[in-house]
Amino acid sequence: MRATDAGSARRGGALLEIDADAVVANWRTLCDRHSVGAVGAVVKADAYGLGAQSIVPALYHAGCRHFFVASLDEALAIRELAPAALVAVFNGAAPGSEPEFAARGIAPVLNGLANVAAWARLARRLGRALPALLHIDTGMARLGLDRRELAALAEAPSQLDGITVAYLMTHLVSAELADDPLNQTQLNEFAAACARLPKAPRCIANSAGIFLGPAFGSDLARPGAALYGINPTPARPNPMRVPVRLTAPVLQVREILAGATVGYNATWRAARPSRIGTVGIGYADGWLRSLSGRGQACFDGRPVPLVGRVSMDLTTYDLTDRPEIGPGDRLELIGPAMPPDAVAEAAGTNGYEVLTSIGSRCARVLKRA
Ligand SMILES: *Cc1c(COP(=O)(O)O)cnc(C)c1O
Repeated sequence: MRATDAGSARRGGALLEIDADAVVANWRTLCDRHSVGAVGAVVKADAYGLGAQSIVPALYHAGCRHFFVASLDEALAIRELAPAALVAVFNGAAPGSEPEFAARGIAPVLNGLANVAAWARLARRLGRALPALLHIDTGMARLGLDRRELAALAEAPSQLDGITVAYLMTHLVSAELADDPLNQTQLNEFAAACARLPKAPRCIANSAGIFLGPAFGSDLARPGAALYGINPTPARPNPMRVPVRLTAPVLQVREILAGATVGYNATWRAARPSRIGTVGIGYADGWLRSLSGRGQACFDGRPVPLVGRVSMDLTTYDLTDRPEIGPGDRLELIGPAMPPDAVAEAAGTNGYEVLTSIGSRCARVLKRA
């Protein structure tokens, strides 16, 4: 693909093409797999870097009616895009921000009894029931009611007066490891916790949890990663489509002699006379520096090795065996042939970090059908 495609010639930089239809197709796949209940969408971190402003309307149009984000600001940014949907905030309401949640129709996740008390107090003041999710910690030990708080609430459920518990939720620690006994332990613990509380719908599985089988089904699943092409079943082939394509242009090509080095600290030395392509993307764009000397890009479906250090704005690739690649050509760094998980493996991280790192300097372009 030449740089003039997709109007990127002027930018000369990295481009992230988003296929919203593929995200919707992934959501439908997840709906099929989660036959017991509804399927929402986690769109925190700007829809894992893809751009919530395009992803939310596409999913809403397809029928998705539950959206999850991490913060109030993220919720406000999408509230109008999904008018009849539940918009819920994982991190809950910061003390004092509850009235804004209520006024904008945003549901906090109640992560502790102090949150429960504040939300119930506001409901009493406003004289109407306010919806929320109630989070029970079953092993993650980050957020949610712990054992003591659960016992205290079970003892005095009137603490929930004025609150409509839209869902009781918990979060799996190791859902992507299908054989981890923790999965079943958490499921049992959650069932026991729910039995002690007033009856309410339940919300359990993340992406990988949906693939753990019907026992992990619930009234609502809340996948994120799988929507964006990350494999929810790492031990098996990826059932999801990769809905992104990150490309960056070759800015310059140079011939170097055998024995010459490339990049900061001379970490790569040419074993033969070589052609080096300098590509306009770097760690300031979220192209992780830990990819230095590792991983590869793709051109015409075949790999092109990354050589030397990734620098702030530039990355170098060995084009010696690819004489057809020249300035203006765009290498594919992430895409169907180079999925986020493959990049993550080279970088020593996970696909989540690869996608959410892609910076604002990379233009987002919606792929049109
Ligand atoms: C991010 C998040 C999810 C989504 O998890 P994926 O693995 O991306 O599907 C679900 N629940 C909670 C509480 C989260 O923080």
